Amino acid sequence: MNGYGGQILRVNLNEKKMKKEPLDPKLARDYLGGRGFGIYFLYTEVPKGADPLGPENKLIASSGPLSGTLVPGAGKMDFTCKSPLTGGYASSSVGGHITAELKYAGYDSIILEGASDSPLYLFIEDEKVELRDASDLWGKGSLTVERELKRRLGEDFQIVTIGPGGENLVKYACITHDFGRQAGRGGVGAVMGSKLLKAIAVRGTKSIPVADPKALLEVSRKMYAACKSSGAFEVWWKYGTSGVNAWSNEVGSFPTMNFRSGRLEGYESLSGEVMREKIVVTDKACFGCPSPCGKWSHSRKYNIRIEGPEYETTALIGGNCALTDIEDIAYANWLCDELGIDTISTGNCIGFAMECFERGIITTEETDGLNLRWGDAEVVFTLIEKIAKREGIGDVLAEGVRYASQVWGKGSEEFAMHVKGMEISGYESRWAPAMMLSYCLCDVGGHHNRAWAITYDLEVGRDKITPDKASKVIELQAIRPLIGDCFGACRLQWVELGLDLGFYAPILKAITGLERSWEDLLKISERIWNLTRIYWVREVEGFGRKFDYPPPRWMEEPLPSGPGKGKFIPKEDIDKLLDWYYEQRGWDENGIPTKGKLEEMGLLELVERGGL
Ligand code: SF4
Repeated sequence: MNGYGGQILRVNLNEKKMKKEPLDPKLARDYLGGRGFGIYFLYTEVPKGADPLGPENKLIASSGPLSGTLVPGAGKMDFTCKSPLTGGYASSSVGGHITAELKYAGYDSIILEGASDSPLYLFIEDEKVELRDASDLWGKGSLTVERELKRRLGEDFQIVTIGPGGENLVKYACITHDFGRQAGRGGVGAVMGSKLLKAIAVRGTKSIPVADPKALLEVSRKMYAACKSSGAFEVWWKYGTSGVNAWSNEVGSFPTMNFRSGRLEGYESLSGEVMREKIVVTDKACFGCPSPCGKWSHSRKYNIRIEGPEYETTALIGGNCALTDIEDIAYANWLCDELGIDTISTGNCIGFAMECFERGIITTEETDGLNLRWGDAEVVFTLIEKIAKREGIGDVLAEGVRYASQVWGKGSEEFAMHVKGMEISGYESRWAPAMMLSYCLCDVGGHHNRAWAITYDLEVGRDKITPDKASKVIELQAIRPLIGDCFGACRLQWVELGLDLGFYAPILKAITGLERSWEDLLKISERIWNLTRIYWVREVEGFGRKFDYPPPRWMEEPLPSGPGKGKFIPKEDIDKLLDWYYEQRGWDENGIPTKGKLEEMGLLELVERGGL
């Protein structure tokens, strides 16, 4: 099939058996690839009520039709499973090179089933697929294992790994690739750990069949030229996401001390300029990227080399725990990467524990004798290790802030910063209604990447509570996951460099040969969005509106300082936003897709078959 590897690789870890199945053209037509394939397999193959960390759950790794082609940034791979953190849908993508390698080996998805009884890694070299013993790698860090497997197999192999966090089933363990890129959210690494799968190593030497190579070359040349001539190119290339640090503080959206406020005192020391001057050694890009946002850094203070810290890590490990030295944040970042835990959830959990300690909700009895002081880097390092190893207080924090607030109680639920059980990522939103709604309605929980709507709030007015805010969130939720998580290409060339969306339908046609308008593609994205919502309804008892609210802090506590001082969005305004959103989505007042909507999306039969 043009544009695709052409095969689905099924790996049963119980029986140690592999099966290759031809890619169903109907699946490619209706779900495109990436997270589209992921939710289709998850919904149709993982039984209702499956234990996320049991053998019934499946981990599905998928490339997309643009992955590994000449499209700028064609290096994104999606991991989908039932989330051990939220109990609902998890989809987390990683950049780098493995998605291209997987296509060159002739596969679009790997479906990992069952669970092994001893540590293994999956070896793929074109048609040769083997499960190999990984006993000697178990217990080692993600970065260490990637280096070791490259030494054993060769530099041409692309590798994903889990660290001790994944082995110990930390609910927000990640899957690491390319020495610092992460499929970080929702606990995909814990699911891999539950299967006793330490790593996947892939080498492919085939070509991707392309419908119209001449047209592909022509359109991709234009896309690269447009990226390079963008006015935003130089700043993006120079600072990557760290360029956002100062801006986020200036607009008052930088998570500070467990989202207590939106501006960190001393934030200037974390700016992209300071980071570039102090620790950045060179730039680092994903497959085929013209605008490398990755920054390869060296901390002399700790003698470590690392990709990052990127914005989210600086926000959650830095601002949220009140660290203001970029080298401390870089070391904490390195620890999280090596131990294989998500920096966003980790920074959130540590900030939450620090606030609980400050308020006397927990004492040194619960903290293994540690004084959890804001801004204490040594405490942050110790807690990261404790979380990954599930030692003492780390065992509580390894379950996420929702769980920790239930254990510690005493009103801590009011400032446990999560949506649907997923810790909120890097944007304080009490003065940004569209961004707040984006968190409320993100299909994996409190994550920003489906709809980064804060710039819309700034553009049209941050106080406005109007139906267009819901429309903008829906629009972004259709486009952003379509490019990044279905096509298998990076969306940042569009977001940051203003690449024209009009390129995508023609280049998809040149690659696959299928004529699809941009509207057709958005429809597919909407179908996937509705199916992910139905998955939540199927898996989480009583799911509906009550799961779509932000944490109480955001609805009740005015911002204490910064440009948004005094602002918050009360529940009645959140309800207005939810009503507009549900209505525009074609969902009922409880946020459930109606029968008519499912019919319109071509999902009714599948949903009924899937046992809603
Ligand atoms: S912009 Fe960044 S994330 Fe996107 S492809 Fe380039 S290096 Fe990767």
